[in-house]
Amino acid sequence: MRKTIGHCHVCGKYGPLTFEHIPPQSAGNTNKTKIYRSEDAISRLRQGNGEGIHYQQSQRGMGYDALCNSCNSYFGRHYVPEFSRVFNQLNTIVINELKPEYQSLAIQIPSFRPLAFCKQIISNFCTINKAGALSDCKDYLLNKEERNFPERYRLYMAIIGKDSTATSMGWSLTLGNSGEIRALTYLCMPPITLTLYDMDRCSAMPVIAGDMTSISTTAWDEISDVTLTLPVESASK
Ligand SMILES: [Zn+2]
Repeated sequence: MRKTIGHCHVCGKYGPLTFEHIPPQSAGNTNKTKIYRSEDAISRLRQGNGEGIHYQQSQRGMGYDALCNSCNSYFGRHYVPEFSRVFNQLNTIVINELKPEYQSLAIQIPSFRPLAFCKQIISNFCTINKAGALSDCKDYLLNKEERNFPERYRLYMAIIGKDSTATSMGWSLTLGNSGEIRALTYLCMPPITLTLYDMDRCSAMPVIAGDMTSISTTAWDEISDVTLTLPVESASK
């Protein structure tokens, strides 16, 4: 298979790039996974900048050639196992409990390791954006115990129905209901969606539920039983 050569989206090193699965293979993203694009996803993608990003989903599941081997294996070792464990739990709960009328869902996660979970998500945002777009997250991602998450970011998580489209995009600017400017990058991997806001480029704080930013600065060895109350994102929003 032809190797993609380029700058690693996390460390910036130039060389062969490895395929990064979003979500990880251990979270069910394999060649058996079928991923559909919908009109909703396309409208979200409208302003996204996918330049330089190689989108592949056919043979190996959904993902991109974006990370060097060293970054990919570091994340695979330290962040992916916890992310996939929680993702699979969320998936089971959403499939069994989510009803169309729900506005939010409270989900219990035993033995949650918030920092590992968060760092896998941030590495995914690096993967779907251009190399260097989140260069200020490099030290944060490459040292598992680092808690210095750049203050300009806000991370939001929501639940979305399992028939939603898995997709992703780069940074985009959108207008909120009151005309405020929002700079965000968005990742949809059912049953969750993740939105990262760049507050330096937003004209107002997003007033929405699902703010997860506080998990970004927790201690590496913090483990606790938590209940996450996540808003349900409507596919037609
Ligand atoms: Zn790298």
